Amino acid sequence: MSLDLKSSWEFSPAPESTSHVKIKKKYDLFIGGKWVKPKSGTYFKTINPATEEVLAEVAEAGEEDVDLAIKAARKAYTQVWSKLSGKERGKYIFRIARLIQERAREFAVIETLDGGKPIREARDIDIPLAAAHFFYYAGWADKLEYAFPNKKPKSLGVAVQITPWNFPMLMVAWKIAPALAAGNTVVLKPAETTPLTALKLAELIQDAGLPDGVVNIVTGYGKTGAMMVEHPDADKVAFTGSTGVGKIIMKAIAGTHKKSTMELGGKAANIIFEDAPIDQAVEGVVNGIFFNQGHVCCAGSRLFIQESVYEKVMRKLKDRMENLVVGDPLDKNTDVGAINSQKQLKVIEGYIKAGLDEGCEMYQPEHATLPKKGYWCKPTLFTNVAQSSKIAKEEIFGPVLAIQTFRTVDEVIAKANNTPYGLSAGVWSDKGSKVFNLTSKMKAGVVWANTYNKFDPTSPFGGYKESGHGREGGVQGLEPYLKFE
Ligand code: NAD
Repeated sequence: MSLDLKSSWEFSPAPESTSHVKIKKKYDLFIGGKWVKPKSGTYFKTINPATEEVLAEVAEAGEEDVDLAIKAARKAYTQVWSKLSGKERGKYIFRIARLIQERAREFAVIETLDGGKPIREARDIDIPLAAAHFFYYAGWADKLEYAFPNKKPKSLGVAVQITPWNFPMLMVAWKIAPALAAGNTVVLKPAETTPLTALKLAELIQDAGLPDGVVNIVTGYGKTGAMMVEHPDADKVAFTGSTGVGKIIMKAIAGTHKKSTMELGGKAANIIFEDAPIDQAVEGVVNGIFFNQGHVCCAGSRLFIQESVYEKVMRKLKDRMENLVVGDPLDKNTDVGAINSQKQLKVIEGYIKAGLDEGCEMYQPEHATLPKKGYWCKPTLFTNVAQSSKIAKEEIFGPVLAIQTFRTVDEVIAKANNTPYGLSAGVWSDKGSKVFNLTSKMKAGVVWANTYNKFDPTSPFGGYKESGHGREGGVQGLEPYLKFE
């Protein structure tokens, strides 16, 4: 008897309600605690990538606007924030955390509408983790001397912060929470395709009564980001985004007093040994590359399978892919949502074509039908991939997995490290000694063992090589926002 996978895995629709969500038609810039019309006079549209509907118009900050925002942050730093005790700063940060928790459902839905990610992920991961980061750093605000004993930690001043579109609210939390705890003020720019949760946070910051100008949120494209980076009165640049833009920013600030943290791209290796718990490993692989459409800097986009279990892993992986629910991001059953933008979809399709052109073998789940409107890509895997294949070398930032095999530990370490990136990796094995041997030889900032994509505010995250420098999360995440005597 053959199993009809389509009918056996069909669920009744379970869409999350949007009735409680308030999105304004038009957003100005949040500068000095107020909503300010852009001097540039221009606005751009942010759309729902699952439906192509316009959600709101958002101000595009120009040179004068960026200057106003940095001046507001400087004034708030010198007149208010730098004079407050750590204990008082902590109270404000704690209040922001509580308010995010209270409004978590609204933030989650907006994240899904604006970014295309499944509501399950926005609701269970992005927003709770964002609140957790504010709670965690609220606790450090009055303990900096204990975090860095005998080093007399001091704040830097004004931090400019630029974030990407894959975890919009979480990346904002990673940036703002430690900056405030360390005593700095902030000008933040979210990505142009996902500005809405950052703007919602601005409303929440007003409600929290944070002194005017401590957090300023400006919106715009890369040009606005470049103006922030180049502004002479910025003391710190915290950037999360592509390695290409990271390099441009590093050149722009070279030779200046500005401190920097760069959280850049990745091409993580996920390694399955023959003694691994295979079902668990397959679930980890799926979680690592297909959930959130592969829009994850630490996505396990290269899979290395030990030859002796290759057939078994491939069979289970393909079965699991057949069961993935692709479609409406607001539906609670959805595993794989919409690609964030048309531009990103074109990039991913370009890589799929490159894989086929290079003779790699492609597999996509047969049952998955994609919605007619919006930007969609089926979960895709490639076998017959060489180390030199474009899809094995370059970051795709989509649900595309490049699979290779190996025989020995040394071989897989050499293959996994053969990349300009070094953000994350995963290893699946029952043997502790093998795991420890491998993790110590992997050139990656984070190596997960028998799990994948796990985050915690107490744990530092960041890359080696072209994946960037500096750490976010943990005590280590405070250091880039401090100077020491
Ligand atoms: P991107 O580099 O295109 O854009 C990121 C941000 O930088 C956006 O806000 C954009 O407007 C801004 N920007 C663009 N050009 C700029 C310039 N010249 N100067 C200043 N700012 C500029 O990246 P993206 O496509 O939004 O995000 C995907 C990338 O982010 C991937 O490479 C991914 O790996 C990386 N990422 C890394 C981490 C990490 O922690 N290492 C986390 C998330 C995403």
